[in-house]
Amino acid sequence: MPSALAHAAPALALIPAFARPGAPRRIWWLGVMCAAAPDLDVIAFALGVPYAHPLGHRGLWHSVPFAALAAGCVAALAFPRPVPGFSRPRAWLYLFLATASHGLLDAATDGGLGVALLAPFDPRRYFWPFRPIAVSPIGVDAFLSARGVAVVWSELLWVWLPFATLGLLLWRRAR
Ligand SMILES: [Zn+2]
Repeated sequence: MPSALAHAAPALALIPAFARPGAPRRIWWLGVMCAAAPDLDVIAFALGVPYAHPLGHRGLWHSVPFAALAAGCVAALAFPRPVPGFSRPRAWLYLFLATASHGLLDAATDGGLGVALLAPFDPRRYFWPFRPIAVSPIGVDAFLSARGVAVVWSELLWVWLPFATLGLLLWRRAR
């Protein structure tokens, strides 16, 4: 996986496309959390669920259909009443894109198993043909190693730079 920080990049980049006067701030925080949340599935390792299992790491919880469902639940819970100027479908779309971006980014990493992007309809694990993002080590100690430096560099180049550019373009378009 890219680091949890890098997974925030798409959620942040999309803000200018969805921001409207009066939009509740918590939607952006929720977007960032939704973008990082699929990696909570590493708990599967502790529970003895094998990596390649449909419910293992990068399985169902990393899929696009699951992102659609999760975004619907979060939007319904976070916005039980309509928010003026920010409809629930709009909230759902933002949260869906933020959540789905996680698996799509993971599929561009250079290690681990692929991502079950279409689970539960298709259990196969997918990678993009081009996988420039270095897999992030787990834990702060590992991050302070030479491998950690390589990961940070690859995330700057292949995650933060493209999404900062996208965010800037969306921001200019929105103005
Ligand atoms: Zn992941």
